[in-house]
Order: sequence, then C-alpha cells, then structure tokens
Amino acid sequence: MLGENRRMRIKIIPISVLSDNYSYLIIDTESSVAVVVDPADPEAVQAFLEKEGVMLEAIFCTHKHWDHSGGNKGLKRLHNSCRVYGNATDNIPGLTHPLSDKDCVTVGRMTFRALFTPGHTVGHMIYLLDGRAIRAPSSLFSGDLVFLCGCGRMFEGSATTMLSSLDTVGSLSDETLLWPGHEYAEDNLLFAAEVEPRNTARENKYQWVQQQRGQKLCTSPSTIGEEKEYNPFLRIHSVDLHQALGLQQYQDEDWTQFRARVLGELRRLKDVYKGKK
Ligand SMILES: [Zn+2]
Repeated sequence: MLGENRRMRIKIIPISVLSDNYSYLIIDTESSVAVVVDPADPEAVQAFLEKEGVMLEAIFCTHKHWDHSGGNKGLKRLHNSCRVYGNATDNIPGLTHPLSDKDCVTVGRMTFRALFTPGHTVGHMIYLLDGRAIRAPSSLFSGDLVFLCGCGRMFEGSATTMLSSLDTVGSLSDETLLWPGHEYAEDNLLFAAEVEPRNTARENKYQWVQQQRGQKLCTSPSTIGEEKEYNPFLRIHSVDLHQALGLQQYQDEDWTQFRARVLGELRRLKDVYKGKK
C-alpha cells in the first residue's frame, strides 16, 4: 500500500472521489486510529474505514469548498467523537476545533502541524504529518494550495498573499512527501512545458505521469524536492521563467514585489490555458 512505513506502521491511502479529487486516509496501524483529509464523499471514506478496521478520530479540512468539505457532517454523524479541524475564517461545515497557524494535533502516534496558507480561500490550511516521530519522511497534505506541478486558483487572496503561502511550502525539506487535493498532474505538466520548455526534470516526470494515468493510477505522492525542480509556481525565482513571461524586475521594485508580479502573471496564463484548474 502506498506510503506504508514498515517500522512504525503509518499507512497513507489516497481515495479518489468526485471527478478528480483525493481524500487521504492516514492510519496509525498499531493503535488502529485514523484521520482523513478532505473527505468530500463520506461513503467512499467510510468503506475504507471499515475495510481497514480503524476508528476515525479526526477530519482535517483544508478549506471550505464543497469538493473538500462536503462530507464533514455526514462522516461526523457516523463517528460522533470525531473532531473536525480547520480554520475558523473559512466557514467549514461541521467545524468543531478551529486551528491557527502552526497549531499541532496528535492522533495516536501521529502529529500534524497546521499551516495557515490563504490565497485560494481566506482560511486555507495545509497539514504536515511530522515524520520524525514515525521515522519516515514528513508528509504534506496541501489541499488546493499546491498540486503536482501546479497551484490553486487565487480566488480570495492577492498574488502577494499566495506567494507567501507558496513560500511556506517551498521552505519545507526536500524529502517531504506531497499529497495534493486533486489529480491535475497531466494538465499541469503540459502547461509548465509552455513556460519552461527546456526543463528536463519536468519532461521525465511527464513520461512517468503518463504511464501512471494510462493505468488510472494515482500520481501522489510527489516530493517537495521534485516539485522545486519543475513546478513553475515553486520556481517564481527562475530566470528562464521570467524570460518566458517577458518580465523584468523594475529598479524600484523589491524581490518579493517582483516575485508576486511574476506569480500573478503566471497564474493568469494558467487560468486562460485551462478554464477550471
Ligand atoms: Zn478549492
């Protein structure tokens, strides 16, 4: 099973829901407790909970959009003691435990750190499963902030806000596993080819993604280190990218302002390249 760590027995199961969303079930197999990230379809998640014979202790919700939060109340009805975590500014259905930036939550032997990453929505949060305690790489559940080779649309934040959230992801260690909220890898890699045509890391990843998707297999997890090599939204500093977009830093513009302008232009191009992602 994907993500299973033999020594400490943490198991991460991507569950395909709706047209292209992923919920993630994360199990501490020794204590048989589990958490789920973004359970949009409660029945799909419930089927895995029963199959694995584990108890659901917590829901981590990245943001309010229905394709991430739509199953919170349904699952909570089935699991009375289950806690629902998220940021209070995001109107998350069924929220019981509001979180702020860098709050930690422990379930079994798993410790998750919530990171406040607004931009896609005002209260978007991502969740980092700390690998140290389980002697495995850390795992980031990134919702609609970062996808394999992409980022979420900036519905409720400026480019400066989104850049700060992307920088939070970029500051994590390279070995961190990335488990995003949607299967957008193929389209995202094609878009990246338009803005960084000479990037061989992206070309290699595209070949692999095509093989996976040809068999309808999940492309999670990626790693932060890999993403930094080809994901244009984590490469806002790249001179190749600036040239492709025809952008140059003004004399009176500081580096963060310039990078926010690059991100704004990159996201605008992506919005018109593919309508909905
Ligand atoms: Zn969303």
